[in-house]
Amino acid sequence: MAKYVMAFDAGTTSNRCILFDVSGRIASVAQKEFRQYYPKPGWVEHDAGEIWTTQMEVAHQAMINVGASAADIAAIGITNQRETTIVWDKATGEPVTRAIVWQCRRTSDYADKLRDEGYTDMIREKTGLVIDAYFSATKLRWILEKIPGARKRAESGELLFGTVDTWLMWKLSGGKIHATDYSNASRTMLFNINTLKWDEEILDLLNIPACMLPEVRPSSGILGTADPQILGAPIPIAGTAGDQQAALFGQTCFREGEAKNTYGTGCFLLMNTGSKPVFSKNGLVTTIAWGMDNSVTYALEGSIFVAGAALQWLRDEMRLIDSAADSEYMATKVKNTNGCYVVPAFAGLGAPHWDQYARGTIVGLTRGCNKYHIIRATLDSLAYQVNDVLKVMRTESGLPLEALKVDGGASANNYLLQAQANISDAPVLRPTCVETTAMGAAYLAGLAVGFWNSCEEIRSNWEIDRTFRPSITEAEREKLVRGWNKAVRCAYGWALDEV
Ligand code: ADP
Repeated sequence: MAKYVMAFDAGTTSNRCILFDVSGRIASVAQKEFRQYYPKPGWVEHDAGEIWTTQMEVAHQAMINVGASAADIAAIGITNQRETTIVWDKATGEPVTRAIVWQCRRTSDYADKLRDEGYTDMIREKTGLVIDAYFSATKLRWILEKIPGARKRAESGELLFGTVDTWLMWKLSGGKIHATDYSNASRTMLFNINTLKWDEEILDLLNIPACMLPEVRPSSGILGTADPQILGAPIPIAGTAGDQQAALFGQTCFREGEAKNTYGTGCFLLMNTGSKPVFSKNGLVTTIAWGMDNSVTYALEGSIFVAGAALQWLRDEMRLIDSAADSEYMATKVKNTNGCYVVPAFAGLGAPHWDQYARGTIVGLTRGCNKYHIIRATLDSLAYQVNDVLKVMRTESGLPLEALKVDGGASANNYLLQAQANISDAPVLRPTCVETTAMGAAYLAGLAVGFWNSCEEIRSNWEIDRTFRPSITEAEREKLVRGWNKAVRCAYGWALDEV
């Protein structure tokens, strides 16, 4: 009997491999960073070959850690940094250029052009996305346009396109599987999330040959097996999802209205909206959470540019704290923020404000404000920003928020999570295992091979470390949020007269 499911967590700066046992506990972890390339300002690249070799190193290491052999592994699940674009030669497996990473802005002019030409509504209705260089479509087009010979080779069927999941599966299967799952496909800006097909009109518009695109498959289901020469046995490759969607699954947000937030450098919020896509008028994106059992589940997604990064700013630039974790103790040295608000709009404001000219602001200072008030207000700013996105999600989906499940580095902060519960008037649940991304991939794979039998069984594995319940009155909440809204208005448009 196999003892583990193996999850590949192919991230932006490192790859990890985690072995989960049947109770959903981590049996082994291995992690390795890989190189980031910044060839020009705003450009970010990875070496696809290194993504693959690093992933294999950590897979072997994770097995060695617990003395596991390939026979102990029931299935492999893959979760990955999304949108990152790789094109390679079908015959040799050689990438035609380095992977263009999701953060890379090299195609922003082309994305602007698409917007100027009036394609915003068409793209939103078909793909659920806002036109942006972030998604794979314009990156793939760039490779076809700029790499000598690429278009001709692609048109004659010599080249394949994939996101990182596709690339890893192709390599792992010895070139037998060229596939992606619904969740990753929905981040390419080429996939029609209504018809569940690559969209011909968009492919024509961007001049992308359909023959290079992967087959789109359910997120949970056996796609094929690993080449036995690689890990020692033909282990089923049985689950795939983009990192944020995998985290939603790992947080067991299986029902409509269930949501998770990851408090990392930025925040990623996703709400399960069930079997119908909800199209946002406030700049949230509509995405496929996962596909399984012959249907797909949709989600609304919103992100916040500066979250944990605001704590790094307090630490590295303001020097008010020695470590991000210190912020919790410092924030609780005072009873409130003394009327002050910090709006960390260092890079403009995202959903639902969408003001690229907003800039960071501290308002409401009086003579009695000290560093503890500022630290507390900075932590509060994470909670307010998350609340702004949650409000839009609640309104647009028409679904009540039962609870917010949380993970990510800053979810260790108890003060922050209590502030979140208070401001959003909803329970905030922190699980014992915050490796939700890898866990989601493991669950998707394990379900496909019968390692776990049902979502109910998985839900019973999900253990709460701590629940934070709202503990302020409605009047107090309204007052706090009114102040935040006023503070945000002060941040609006600050950089406008400089451009
Ligand atoms: P990412 O995956 O985006 O690199 P992580 O999930 O590892 O991020 O979280 C790191 C971020 O969380 C950092 O920005 C850091 O400032 C913040 N952070 C870490 N621990 C705490 C804490 N105890 N309180 C507040 N913020 C924290």
